[in-house]
Amino acid sequence: MTVYVKSDEVSIRECRESLCNCVMEQFQAHIPSLRFLCFIDDVDDPSLKAKLGQANLGVHVNLDIDESLLECQRLPLPQYVKSLLHDQTSGERVFDSLIYLHGSTCAIEVSLIITLAHELQHLLQHGNEPRLLAADALMIELARKKFISGFNNWHDFPSEREAILVSKRVATRMCGEEAVRLYADSQIASATDDNEKRRWEFFQKLSLSTTYHFAAVVNALVQEYRTKLEAYIGLNLQNDSLCSSLDFGKPDWWKVE
Ligand SMILES: [Zn+2]
Repeated sequence: MTVYVKSDEVSIRECRESLCNCVMEQFQAHIPSLRFLCFIDDVDDPSLKAKLGQANLGVHVNLDIDESLLECQRLPLPQYVKSLLHDQTSGERVFDSLIYLHGSTCAIEVSLIITLAHELQHLLQHGNEPRLLAADALMIELARKKFISGFNNWHDFPSEREAILVSKRVATRMCGEEAVRLYADSQIASATDDNEKRRWEFFQKLSLSTTYHFAAVVNALVQEYRTKLEAYIGLNLQNDSLCSSLDFGKPDWWKVE
């Protein structure tokens, strides 16, 4: 894993680098053996915010997937980030995964920690449980196209719910309950849209003792929407090696043999 902190000031670079390393230490045992770049920007990327909403704080992007990848995973990135993803001489891709954090996210320590922990949990889902994450991404795609209902909030999707819970746990361990509570309060107060407000209210109310079984929750939803998921894969994702290999009828279909 490589941490790249963009800043003209050495003290800011050092401080953010060490903060990122502390967050990563919280995950160490579980971080998959992926080549990943964690890019900490000092400005906000307008194209990413235009695509994901002004409230977006950061993102995790899988780079090792086919061109046929789901629409929701195709994201714009700043050129100075893109240029780091490939070897300048051979043109070969040198990272499998990217975590990108906007500059404004990193101006407040607790904000950087919550966002990085959240995106790292998505990286873990991608590296350790790719089939579950693919099924979750499919449900996001189908909900977005209104083929399935029942997801009223972004945090209703299992991958998101688990990432929110983990990020709150990590931030509370590193910064204390009070700092996390005050930050979430400030996010609720400054939210510019209802979704964002509901997301931070959810974060604020979430008990740290909650146990969340990602696989069990995804599987229950998959079985509920199985017919539509299978039809969608059959029509649109036959060239996607991961999605087309999902066999929801098999017990423990998400486990990689
Ligand atoms: Zn997320």
